[in-house]
Amino acid sequence: MKITNSSIKQLLNHYKEISVLTKIKAVLEWDLNVNLPPKAAEGRAGQVEYLANQLTALWKKKEFVDLLKKANTNLDKLNEDEKAIVRNLNYANKYYSRIPEEIIAEKEKVTAKAFMVWQKARSENKFRDFLPSLKEIVRLNQIIAKHLEYKENPYDALLDLFEPELTAKHTAELFGIIKPALIDLIKRIQKSKDYQSESPLVDGKFIYPQPEQKHLSQFLMSKMGFDTAAGRMDISAHPFTTSLDQFDVRITTRYLEKDFRDSYSSTVHETGHALYEQEASPEYAQTPLEGGVSFGIHEAMSRFWENMVGKNPEFIRFMSPVFQSFFPEQLSGLTENEFVRLFNLVKPSFIRIEADEVTYSLHIILRFELENALMSGELKPEDAGETWREKSKELFGIVPETDSQGVLQDVHWSYGAMGYFPSYALGNLYGAQLLARMKDSVDFDKDLSKGKLGRIHSWLKENIHVHGSKYLPEELLIKATGKPLDPKYFIEYLEKKYSKIYSL
Ligand code: MG
Repeated sequence: MKITNSSIKQLLNHYKEISVLTKIKAVLEWDLNVNLPPKAAEGRAGQVEYLANQLTALWKKKEFVDLLKKANTNLDKLNEDEKAIVRNLNYANKYYSRIPEEIIAEKEKVTAKAFMVWQKARSENKFRDFLPSLKEIVRLNQIIAKHLEYKENPYDALLDLFEPELTAKHTAELFGIIKPALIDLIKRIQKSKDYQSESPLVDGKFIYPQPEQKHLSQFLMSKMGFDTAAGRMDISAHPFTTSLDQFDVRITTRYLEKDFRDSYSSTVHETGHALYEQEASPEYAQTPLEGGVSFGIHEAMSRFWENMVGKNPEFIRFMSPVFQSFFPEQLSGLTENEFVRLFNLVKPSFIRIEADEVTYSLHIILRFELENALMSGELKPEDAGETWREKSKELFGIVPETDSQGVLQDVHWSYGAMGYFPSYALGNLYGAQLLARMKDSVDFDKDLSKGKLGRIHSWLKENIHVHGSKYLPEELLIKATGKPLDPKYFIEYLEKKYSKIYSL
């Protein structure tokens, strides 16, 4: 990285403080999710809140804001790295500089309460109890969108917070292509003579002890190339990855005694996130070019490993005897084909987080259409439950009997987050396009059939990981594949894979 401009040097000094404080806050949050004794919850919340306020103050500091303004007036004098630094700082600073403090404070107050209201409403299946909170959250997000500014659609302002420059119109175009293709593919899979939606292996008869699952997770992490001297794995209720430093990337997994596939998928998914964080060019550490560029590209990396590698039929065949060596009594009678099927069951369901690779994106499309209509005012929050049922019927052919299985299932709205979901599905689309390109130079299936992950890992490292957040998502994709995002690769990938598994 070449930095010659003196304003940029000053901006980097200031950002370093932001980066250090962000990482310190992340340590407390990691510990909260992994180790916290129950009585410490309130104290820890206060500590995290204190640091969050310090961070806001750093982002709003007058000298920093003035320096950034100055840098923005001299863009033509900056080199590529310097321009990317200014772009990322503008992007991060937007939230602090454009939204009035009273609105941020009001949102914090509303969401602090909304989370508890949501938890209770979901467990009691009472959408009407959550409705007042949802109305407030939609109203505040509409105000926030106005302050953030947008060209066409208020939802654009929220999407951009998670996936820079993504618009509702572009998302609708992409989803409009994959939606009918997915619905059609699922129908054909269900009609196949080989169709199977349940497995006797996970019907509760067998137990997969935690120590063996942990060893299997460690085996996978090491095979994928996770640097254990620069990170570690722990347990949490909801698996996640966090970067406490470029050389301290933490992942978590969880062990379900009745289903070893859960920790298998979580570990591979989170290790995918972790490699992206560990392998950004070290010169970007503690600069605005550190870490991954967007939620969508991050999910592309994690889902690439989880689905395209971890559930690839050739890799599952390679892994079959490994699974059997970890769980000889439970799995000894299984053939390779049965293993392949076991990891690639397709079943329309109500709950997003339990969805398979084929139905998953439809869960996201449902939320996108709903959030978009809520933000534009086309859909009233009181009608969200009914609209959810209608869309579930349209997309999956099934209707949830309760709101807990429908409109109340996700935590995100109670946090005040809208615009987050589409990045999950975008990750699938980015991943498939990267895979198609990777296959030009890597003998993908053959490598996986031998359990060799080295060339796949190197390709992702060279084309995505090392760039940190220097390029915007679309720029990065074009650099890696030569083309803007095209959803056809995802459809082709699924068609090819599942036609073979289910003899379509
Ligand atoms: Mg993830």
